[in-house]
Amino acid sequence: MKDCLFCRIAAKEIPSSMVYEDDKIFAFNDINPQAPVHILVIPKEHIPSITDVKDGSILGELYNIINKLAEAKGVKATGFRVIVNHGRDSGQAVPHLHFHLLGGRHLHWPPG
Ligand code: AMP
Ligand code: ZN
Repeated sequence: MKDCLFCRIAAKEIPSSMVYEDDKIFAFNDINPQAPVHILVIPKEHIPSITDVKDGSILGELYNIINKLAEAKGVKATGFRVIVNHGRDSGQAVPHLHFHLLGGRHLHWPPG
């Protein structure tokens, strides 16, 4: 999608701090990090939100990468959180499916 921010980041039309890429998945550091580790893991395919997933196998592939990144960034042992926002009440700002991987500090629970 040519006017989608995350499609353009995955296509490298807009620069990002990339941490992982394969043929289906792209991951980059969040521009406004909420924790020492704050990575966005996205499918390259334009899927607007979690409710638009048609083939759930992509979710397993995304989680495999999330686990690898959590280990590589040193938060597997200390703990981390994975967040997917959907819709207005969650504050979803970018309509391209993305998983937030957060870690490197104590993460308050319940979230606000
Ligand atoms: P959400 O509120 O779940 O839609 O999250 C969108 C996230 O994208 C926020 O955490 C933003 O800080 C992040 N973000 C927005 N623009 C960029 C960008 N150009 N590069 C990296 N992260 C971004
Ligand atoms: Zn997109």
